[in-house]
Amino acid sequence: MKYILLLLVSIPLFAQKEMTPQMTEAWEPVPEIINPGDANSPPSDAIVLFDGTDLSQWINAKTGKAADWTINPDGSMTVKQDGGIETKEEFGSIQLHIEWRTPPVIKGKGQGRGNSGVYFQKTYEVQVLDSYNNVTYSNGQAASIYKQSIPLVNASRPPGEWQTYDIIFNEPIFYDNGNRIKKGTLTVFHNGVLVQNNVEIKGTTEYLGHPKIRDINTPKRLYLQDHGNPVSYRNIWLRKL
Ligand code: MG
Repeated sequence: MKYILLLLVSIPLFAQKEMTPQMTEAWEPVPEIINPGDANSPPSDAIVLFDGTDLSQWINAKTGKAADWTINPDGSMTVKQDGGIETKEEFGSIQLHIEWRTPPVIKGKGQGRGNSGVYFQKTYEVQVLDSYNNVTYSNGQAASIYKQSIPLVNASRPPGEWQTYDIIFNEPIFYDNGNRIKKGTLTVFHNGVLVQNNVEIKGTTEYLGHPKIRDINTPKRLYLQDHGNPVSYRNIWLRKL
C-alpha cells in the first residue's frame, strides 16, 4: 500500500519534469486570414447589409415589399415612417456593426426623441434613442436592452452626430417544441465603450408586460424600428458567428 501511494505521488512530479513548451502549443486549426478593414470599410469576411447605395437586402416589415426608406446623398438612410424594415436573410449568432444618428433638431422628449431600435431576430431590441441630456426610464435609454438591461454608462453623443454600435449577439437555443434550452446573450459597445457585458436576454423585449419566450417560428431577421422619428443609419455589416 505504501509503495502504491509513493508511486501515485511521484507520477505527477515525474510528468512535470518532462513537460516542454512544445507540449502546450496548438498549431491546428490555423485561423483563416481576413482583411480587418478600417473605419470606412468592413472586414473582408463581413456581410454588408447597407453600404449607402441601395436597400436591396431589406424589405418593409409590414408589407413585405421592397424597403423604401430614404437614401441620402451622404450614404445614409432615414426612417420613412411607413413601417420598420427587416433583412431578407435570417441570422443566428452574429457580430453586428451599425451606425446611427438622431435628428440634429431636437423634437419631443423622453421616448419620443430620436427613437428607433435594432432588433435581433425581430425579437430583442437594443434601443436607439437620443439619450443626450434626455431623461427617460434607464432601461429604455440608448443602448439598453429594452426594459431588461440598463447600459453600464451613457456614452451618447449629441443629437445630429453619428454614433456606433458594435454588438455581439449569441442566439438563444430552443428545443423543437419551443422550450428554451439556453438563454441568448448580448454584448454592446456604444461609441466603442462597453455598455452591455455579456448580458443574458430574459426573453422578448416587450413595451407592455414582462419578457416572453420567443416564438421559434418568428423569422430570425435583423429588424430596424420605425418609431415615428427620422433616425438615420449607415455602414451596416455583420459577421456570422
Ligand atoms: Mg425603440
